[in-house]
Amino acid sequence: MGRQAVIEITCDRCTRVEHRSMSDSRPEQKEGSKEHYMFRAMYKGKMIEFEDLCSGCESIVDNHMREIDKSLTKRSPIRDKSKS
Ligand SMILES: [Zn+2]
Repeated sequence: MGRQAVIEITCDRCTRVEHRSMSDSRPEQKEGSKEHYMFRAMYKGKMIEFEDLCSGCESIVDNHMREIDKSLTKRSPIRDKSKS
């Protein structure tokens, strides 16, 4: 007791170093697994990748993803105009 296996991650966005307990980590972060990306986006040839994110940056990305999802999945305003 008193000992815990932790994973040290360095945030790709703000370079903050964070420790996570093994039990907190996602399955794909477990030892021996191939490369993982917490965030990967590609649009018009531009790629944004963050292999690891600290908890602060993770919640920022969460918020942006929610916004992108909301904006992109709602009906296009151009299509609505052509109806009239
Ligand atoms: Zn960060």
